[in-house]
Amino acid sequence: MQRVPYLSSRLQGFGTTIFAEMSALAEKTKAINLGQGFPDTDGPLAIREQAATAALNGPNQYPPVNGAADLRVAISEHQKRFWGLTIDPNREVVVTTGATEAIAAALVGLCEQGDEVIVFDPTYDSYAAGISLAGARPRPVVLRPTGDNEFVFDEAELRQAFGPRTRLILLNTPHNPTGKVFSAAELALIAELCIEHDVLAVVDEVYEHLVFEGSHRSLAKLPGMFDRTLTISSVGKSFSLTGWKVGWATGPAALVTAVRTAKQFLTFATGAPFQPATASALRLDDDYFDSFVADMRERRDLLCEGLESAGFDVFWPDGTYFVTANIAQFGYVDGIEFCLALPERAGVVAVPSQVFYQNQTDGDYFVRFCFAKQPAVLEEAISRLQAAFP
Ligand code: PMP
Ligand code: GLN
Repeated sequence: MQRVPYLSSRLQGFGTTIFAEMSALAEKTKAINLGQGFPDTDGPLAIREQAATAALNGPNQYPPVNGAADLRVAISEHQKRFWGLTIDPNREVVVTTGATEAIAAALVGLCEQGDEVIVFDPTYDSYAAGISLAGARPRPVVLRPTGDNEFVFDEAELRQAFGPRTRLILLNTPHNPTGKVFSAAELALIAELCIEHDVLAVVDEVYEHLVFEGSHRSLAKLPGMFDRTLTISSVGKSFSLTGWKVGWATGPAALVTAVRTAKQFLTFATGAPFQPATASALRLDDDYFDSFVADMRERRDLLCEGLESAGFDVFWPDGTYFVTANIAQFGYVDGIEFCLALPERAGVVAVPSQVFYQNQTDGDYFVRFCFAKQPAVLEEAISRLQAAFP
């Protein structure tokens, strides 16, 4: 890896995020962008109108560091309504600039130099950088595919990962990029180990409303876990508003205070006119959430079947809006090479999952496609892939 002049040693090696690189490639080649995860249709009009009205009439000045009071109430209502968690809106919520800031602020706010953070590989790209910024070290546990095309971890490997330097486990469920939804038994094991080793948990639940099989469960709800768990989410994925960058962390006051303390010196506060509209989004009725997931399930089925018809070996996701496919049968041994060739070969952009692994060779054969696109766009991408891989 080439050294970047002037860049601090904590960020050497992190380069440019793959999502920006692949979106730039899609723009340059005019390919269909199934790389970076964002929907091609904006979220509810009434919610966007509320944000526009707020930009005209206010609030437009600094909101409170921990977020507008009514948004904090809406977040606590949401946590109760969907996951049965009782959250004090005054002490147990902090609003952040996207889930990204919540994750970074949690790492910086909770880790000491040299601490270890357990992550499941493949790992969302901001985790490793956030861990490094915090002066900590990642301790990866690899999710490996089974014969049934499910991604699972080895219990012994997870047990071994917990040690005297472990500060926290950073978990993502539903999981990007694999689409795995951690099961009740897996979460129970994680909880047991956190309690046994007195380790904190930070759980990124940005895909909480995108579960197609089974159900999403919050680790914080498990016995003995609330007091050691921070739960993170954001408006982006659940409401198709990824550019708003409003996120939040909920949990016991001590952990939320650590996030807020870091957050106040990173951004101080988060976009004022978006906060009342985000509160309304969280209060949308069940019809919104039901039709959102039903709609996305249809797109999942469409893209997964289409990829299979083009000859890909597909890992059907239980959640998120991503699908992983294996490219080995096309004679490729390197997902990066495959993804760089794909725009020219097929007019489609995908993301090489390699970049999500601490040990890249674990992900050599996997690429990720995003299906949060209009059915006609997915159909066009499928017919291009079928033509490119006859
Ligand atoms: N975590 C995961 C797993 C993600 O996929 C993303 C992208 N939405 C984020 C965090 C960042 O979320 P936000 O855009 O709210 O910062
Ligand atoms: N979460 C999105 C993804 O996984 C990307 C967000 C970003 O570009 N940072 O594709």
